[in-house]
Amino acid sequence: MKLSSVSSIAFAFTSTRKPPPEEVRVVVNKKPTTGHPSYSTEIDPVSGSLTIHSIVPKGIEIQDGLYGKKLVATQKFHEGQVLYVGYAILLDIALSNAEKYFVRLYNHDGTFQTEEIMSTVHSVVDYDKLASDVLHDCIYQDDVAKKKSKRNNSDTSSSPGVFGLGQLPSSPSFPVPSIRQIYGFDAFMNHSCDANTYHPLVSRSSEMMSYQAIAIRDIFPGDEITCDYAFFDYECNGHEIEQCLCGSPKCRGKMMGFQGLSLQEKISILPYCELEIVSTFFRENNDITLLRSEIPPGVDLIVKPNDTHLVATRTFEAAELVFENKSTLIPTHDLSKTYVLECNGKYFLMDNLHHFIHRREYSEAVGFDCFMDHSCCPNTSQVYQDSTTYVVRANHLIQPGDRITMDYTSLDSLERVSFQCNCGSAVCKGLILS
Ligand SMILES: [Zn+2]
Ligand SMILES: [Zn+2]
Repeated sequence: MKLSSVSSIAFAFTSTRKPPPEEVRVVVNKKPTTGHPSYSTEIDPVSGSLTIHSIVPKGIEIQDGLYGKKLVATQKFHEGQVLYVGYAILLDIALSNAEKYFVRLYNHDGTFQTEEIMSTVHSVVDYDKLASDVLHDCIYQDDVAKKKSKRNNSDTSSSPGVFGLGQLPSSPSFPVPSIRQIYGFDAFMNHSCDANTYHPLVSRSSEMMSYQAIAIRDIFPGDEITCDYAFFDYECNGHEIEQCLCGSPKCRGKMMGFQGLSLQEKISILPYCELEIVSTFFRENNDITLLRSEIPPGVDLIVKPNDTHLVATRTFEAAELVFENKSTLIPTHDLSKTYVLECNGKYFLMDNLHHFIHRREYSEAVGFDCFMDHSCCPNTSQVYQDSTTYVVRANHLIQPGDRITMDYTSLDSLERVSFQCNCGSAVCKGLILS
């Protein structure tokens, strides 16, 4: 995944192999292997140049875009579908002069497509922010000096561009940290502030990583396949996108990594972020209280901007139990705190006024069902069994896909919230004062 489509320097190479220019030389200690035919690496024994052989998966095509190459879907991918399993080697460019490398692309049937020269600077993740227990065997800056002294005994120690710890230049043209993820065909995937794929990790060692590319929503033939750098890049240190050209209505204007987002944006993308980003987020925001709530079978949460709601996933007969839940009591003096609700891997920033039920002595955080819609003719009723346990039963037949509704005025919350009801029922009261 390259950093900025605008600054891409990849250019087409003729299929006749030419000796690589001097700056393409790369020195790595040993050839990493993937054990997978769709991605493999080759180091030229004479020139030392690195080549990634990469098969472009079925349903995906690399096309020329306005700002360089881009990935385009040639088939439909459903929300949640795995588009492909991707691979990348981890390369310490402080130990080599690997500013450039080759990517040789092949069609799905193995025939040669094209060869590109890529810049390692465009394949970046901030490893200094990553949890050391996950990357314990990875090469950190602290190790560079050790490795440098080892390398001093070898004949490559004089290679230009090989730096030791004390020698790392402060020039922004060579930003630290120096570990680069060297991708295959998906190095051409562009950033979007409204990305349609995310990439959960499958495995990672000190040399290799593999990940899935999963569709966040339905992707149609002709759609550009995009990712959001904030999903896996906490700081974007030294490779920020000052002016994002993703063109999405949700464009943030610039891409400064996860940490540059607003609290609301951070929480909304947490489900798609790498685990290190999620754990770093909660570590750095220890004033946030995490509430957990499991969505029971038979219902589901449909997440939409300003219209997150609960639906039935099966039929409920009149008087049937829809679900049972237990609320968390929040002392009134804690209401100024920030609460994040996690429901089955989805995260929500709580609106303490609207999402909690306010009683005289305390407030109640109910959980996933705080997103239930109001109706003046609701299809469920809530009955408390004690101060925190309640059951929700169907008032009449509920069909799969129906929104599950309740009457907010029955909650007896101290906080009076008025809104114009559009429930559409024959008995709609219009202006509601809950
Ligand atoms: Zn954007
Ligand atoms: Zn109504």
